Amino acid sequence: MMRSINPATGEIVQAFEAHSEKGVEKIINSVDKCWQQWRKTTFFQRSQMMQNLATLLKSKQEELARLMAREMGKVLREGVAEIEKCAWVCEYYAAHSENFLENETIATNFSKSYVSYQPLGTILAVMPWNFPFWQVFRFAAPTLMAGNTAVLKHASNVPGCAMAIEDLFREAGFPDNVFRTLLIRSNLVEAVIKHPAVKGVSLTGSTPAGKSVASVAGSVLKKCVLELGGSDPYLILEDADLVSAAKICATGRLLNAGQSCIGAKRFIVVDKVYSEFLEYFTYEMNKANFGEPWEPDITMGPMARIDLRDELHKQVSDSVKKGAEVVIGGARPERKGAYYPPTILEKVKPGMPAYDEELFGPVASVIRVKDESEAISVANDTAFGLGAAVFSKNLKRAEHIAETQLQAGCCFVNDFVKSDPRLPFGGIGESGFGRELSSHGIKEFMNVKTIVVK
Ligand code: NDP
Repeated sequence: MMRSINPATGEIVQAFEAHSEKGVEKIINSVDKCWQQWRKTTFFQRSQMMQNLATLLKSKQEELARLMAREMGKVLREGVAEIEKCAWVCEYYAAHSENFLENETIATNFSKSYVSYQPLGTILAVMPWNFPFWQVFRFAAPTLMAGNTAVLKHASNVPGCAMAIEDLFREAGFPDNVFRTLLIRSNLVEAVIKHPAVKGVSLTGSTPAGKSVASVAGSVLKKCVLELGGSDPYLILEDADLVSAAKICATGRLLNAGQSCIGAKRFIVVDKVYSEFLEYFTYEMNKANFGEPWEPDITMGPMARIDLRDELHKQVSDSVKKGAEVVIGGARPERKGAYYPPTILEKVKPGMPAYDEELFGPVASVIRVKDESEAISVANDTAFGLGAAVFSKNLKRAEHIAETQLQAGCCFVNDFVKSDPRLPFGGIGESGFGRELSSHGIKEFMNVKTIVVK
């Protein structure tokens, strides 16, 4: 059984029968069979279905946001925005996939030589609970438009979202087995990756899960794309607009109750503006209106699971034992549910979880540094490399740091890091490899086929 548990109340919302190994085998075979037909459809046909899907998503925004609020505690306004973004990625790939995958002529001494992008077959997606729709759609829209089919193993705490996504594809008019959900736990993922019909795997989740999936995929030589955790550094330089930076940093930290791989996590502030920034930042973090996610004015709900909340609190307590100081928050509230308040820790140093590990919740680590050069070295003092941001009114200086100094997959100047269908997205180091979105994402699971005519 897979259970949805409401993280705000601890109550079981619904239970779902998990698929058996035999059931999984049957689904994968049906999806593989479907691929033989799907790969022959035209871009125009796929685009029409993808466009229908976008329209359907928009018509169900409120209902799907409520489902997320119940299953993983996302506040309604963020849930509605997430579904809107899913519709956008469907529209984006409906409009651009044919162009992205056009044959590329290459001049040689042959009479004709070119590259043709061919689909590989069925791709497995192993997805997390934090953006239960967006993470799946940003994988599925390019994958299906490229002529591949897909199976989804969603996180065990969001089976309702997993089933709703499968239904959406069907309702939008896609053939029944182009996209299927496998209701399984992670112990069955190895067998799915090793299934001969599965040609690749994309995982978004923690670094340990990524390493496990990558080693299985490596053992059978199947391509994988890994979008893992991050500990994104935000550099606040002495010439930053501090009021605006504080606002943006607090938004970037508290979005989705802090449970985002590209959440702002370490705030590295130069000495000269440290106290002023901390004052503004504390004010902004304190503004969060936190409570039941389905209430209309709430801006921050509970975390997705009690165990995740308790793990975060342990990271905070261990950091405090090692000398970090709590500016605000830092205590589990006396109420039911997986709640954790907006928290700021200062005097964060190497050797503390708040410095060395990812904090996947509403906790900000603030680090004081001497100058720009120390800020850059602290920013890069991490095994992760997903996103980073620089705040300065001197755009030339900030852009130079973003482009050449920070070791990360995406660097933003004067804004928090966000994904966008038009921009490639992914990390380096322990944040994974491969890229999603844009023209780069759609080419990850393709046979880049070279054709030569003498
Ligand atoms: P996991 O990484 O464990 O879960 C993500 C997905 O991977 C789920 O579908 C999960 O399935 C699956 N999975 C987990 N372990 C394996 C494995 N060994 N082989 C195959 N699939 C696996 O995240 P958690 O829910 O445990 O969260 C823990 C931490 O992970 C967070 O605190 C955060 O640091 C990080 N995380 C990062 C995310 C990101 O966006 N980059 C998203 C979510 C979490 P199942 O649910 O059945 O275990």
